[in-house]
Amino acid sequence: DALVEIDNVSLAYGRGPGRTLALRGATINVERGGFSAVVGPSGCGKSSLMKLVTGLMRPTLGSVRVDGKPVDGPLKIAGMAFQNPTLLPWRSTLSNVMLPLEIVEPHRGRLRRQRKEYEARAEELLEAVGLKGFGSRSPWQLSGGMQQRASLCRALIHEPDLLMLDEPFAALDAFTREELWGVLQKLWMERKFTVILVTHDLREAVYLAKTIHIMSARPGRIVATRDVPFDFPRT
Ligand code: ADP
Ligand code: ADP
Repeated sequence: DALVEIDNVSLAYGRGPGRTLALRGATINVERGGFSAVVGPSGCGKSSLMKLVTGLMRPTLGSVRVDGKPVDGPLKIAGMAFQNPTLLPWRSTLSNVMLPLEIVEPHRGRLRRQRKEYEARAEELLEAVGLKGFGSRSPWQLSGGMQQRASLCRALIHEPDLLMLDEPFAALDAFTREELWGVLQKLWMERKFTVILVTHDLREAVYLAKTIHIMSARPGRIVATRDVPFDFPRT
């Protein structure tokens, strides 16, 4: 049972002679509860693929379906995290984590009434990623790794079915990166959401994902899809 179906998708930026073909006939299926990694060199079309799944762009050819329905606008059931944690510096870490709820629940009255419940959920997530007690701090008081932990919490606060990650650990040092692999793996095993991770780090893909989709250099094409038949030994 597939949650995400990317079927023979092509994507062009612009038109005429200056047009760039970013994807050409890419096909990927991701099972509900699965963990897929999309790997490939810079410029092969990984971010473009991510934008199609999250509904930020539409394919030039082919179709993208999530939960059986064509994606025709920003996808509310997805949480997202990127290389840059983009936390708002004038808000506490806790209120950054709660931010998506203000977008999902724009009704001020309901938001106020549900605030306690949301706060409890945010505190619980912060604890799960090792940030217990840091909710009241400003994000600029946190290390890069801690900010990325908080951005994972923000991506998960509305309990999305799908977590979309675009190079979330690329800017971190090797030790912090591997520590966060463990954090993400634990969240995924406990909470059963579906993950698509875009990365150029093959080790990261093998460590975390159950299925790896390998993209060739531009224009983006999936050249191989392989299941990872073992759990990567923890160091
Ligand atoms: P990756 O994430 O693998 O680095 P991208 O999806 O960002 O790849 O880019 C794929 C190709 O599309 C690249 O050749 C890139 O230069 C081009 N591209 C990406 N975004 C745009 C854009 N907004 N306008 C024109 N070309 C773009
Ligand atoms: P991370 O591995 O999350 O990047 P660091 O390696 O920078 O974190 O820091 C290691 C530990 O030091 C953190 O997990 C945290 O407990 C503590 N720490 C780091 N920065 C701060 C800070 N600004 N205030 C309080 N504690 C901090």
